[in-house]
Parts: sequence; C-alpha cells; structure tokens
Amino acid sequence: MMPTTETEIRASFVNCTKGETKRLAVPRDLADRPWADLDFLGWRDPAADERAYLVAESDTGLVGVALRVAPQTGRARRNMCSLCLTTHTGDGVSLMTARKAGRDGRQGNSVGAYICADLACSLYLRGKRDAGRRLDETLTVPQKVERTTANLAAFLRKVLG
Ligand SMILES: [Zn+2]
Repeated sequence: MMPTTETEIRASFVNCTKGETKRLAVPRDLADRPWADLDFLGWRDPAADERAYLVAESDTGLVGVALRVAPQTGRARRNMCSLCLTTHTGDGVSLMTARKAGRDGRQGNSVGAYICADLACSLYLRGKRDAGRRLDETLTVPQKVERTTANLAAFLRKVLG
C-alpha cells in the first residue's frame, strides 16, 4: 500500500466516534513501516491489549477499523487467520470484533474475525515473518496477496454494512 500519514489514518476510521478517533494510538514509527510489503496497516495499541486497528486501501480511499481483541484462552490450540490463512499455535491468532459502522454499530451490532494477533498478515504471506507453519499450497505470493485482499475487503464490507 501507499505510505500514509497519521492525519490520513485518523480520518479513515469508519466505526469510531470523533473522540475515539482523536485519542486512538497511531503507530509512532509510520516512516519505518515496510509499506511496499503491506496489503494493509495493522497494529495493536501498546497501552491497551484489547485494542487493535487496521487501515486498508479501498476504491473509495482509506478505510480504518477499530477492533476489540477477545481475551486469550491460553490453550495451545492451532488457529487459522481468516484473512491470510496462516496457521498459528496458541496466541498467534485472536478473535477480533469490529463494531459496525453507522446506526448498526450504535445499536450494538458487530462483526468478528480470527486474525493474526500481530496483524502482520502481509509479512507472513511474503515469508518475511515466520509463523512456523503454513498451509502446504502451490499459490504464488501475488495469488496469496490477492486472496488476502479479497478476504479483507469482504470483512470491511460487513463492517460497513
Ligand atoms: Zn493473518
């Protein structure tokens, strides 16, 4: 994706109040992020373990989504990320829930997905971060990227309603 700024990131959130958008923790190391290898920007709030965020490009511009991370169960189960299909054991995959945008969200509706706990799907896909084990499949990296982008777009569509 194209490098983005803190201002663009804050302006992109679709499921936050204005106050939440102003306060949320945007990464301080934006200049050092490996943008060319990112299909989306995802991060955890270093000060609040239950908060995660992702920002992705779409036809209509950047779309940012605030996520709630479900507490870990501590069991060493194997789980698969629903975006990049990387399999992790234990805490490597988390259930993340997004309040839906607009009125649906104000009425308490949300959408959940299992996502790599560090939101580094793009790096797992490209073999730049090691998950220990990947699906044994013959897809090329561009094909995996395309699939992940499609999975993410489907998730964002659900959040946007
Ligand atoms: Zn993933």
